[in-house]
Amino acid sequence: MGNQLINLLKEGNSRFINNQRKEHNLKHQLQAAMVEQRPYAIVVTCSDSRIPPEIIFDEGIGQLFVVRIAGNILDKIAIGTIEFAIQNFQTKLIAILGHSDCGAVKTSFNKAEKSFFINSIQQSIQPAIDTANLKTFQTTEEKLNFAIIENIQNQKQMLLQSSELIRNYINNEQLQLATGFLQTDTGKVHFF
Ligand SMILES: [Zn+2]
Repeated sequence: MGNQLINLLKEGNSRFINNQRKEHNLKHQLQAAMVEQRPYAIVVTCSDSRIPPEIIFDEGIGQLFVVRIAGNILDKIAIGTIEFAIQNFQTKLIAILGHSDCGAVKTSFNKAEKSFFINSIQQSIQPAIDTANLKTFQTTEEKLNFAIIENIQNQKQMLLQSSELIRNYINNEQLQLATGFLQTDTGKVHFF
């Protein structure tokens, strides 16, 4: 079940990469989704303007339920948003995607004073920064990518720890939780 859904994302992503996007009759898709909304995947990713999920996965209207927050972090409201989709649309796949050159992760390495709200993002990413700071890397890009991937895993663990509803759906094999790394300059998504 879950793998088929991941394959839909992978197929759409390769159409995008190969510049072979499908014809989407958006008006028709919208009409169909007005009758019944059944997005097959919940995509959690960063707000970065270069990585719009519907385009990266070559989807139109009604297929993806998207949660976008800087640094693809999951706070109470984001988790509630995911639970809402699972309960109301029977969506069976969650994909948490981090991406290369992520400004939210990059800025979290920098201790400069920021607004209360930007600091809240940074606090959520901080454990990944702390882990990266304990290791040695050849380049800053390597270090940044490590922190981005670490942050994806941290957010996944946090989601599983926080949401009993999501744990139950996964245990009953009604839901799959996937993670992936999006290469911003190509749009290629690598699922872990
Ligand atoms: Zn980002």
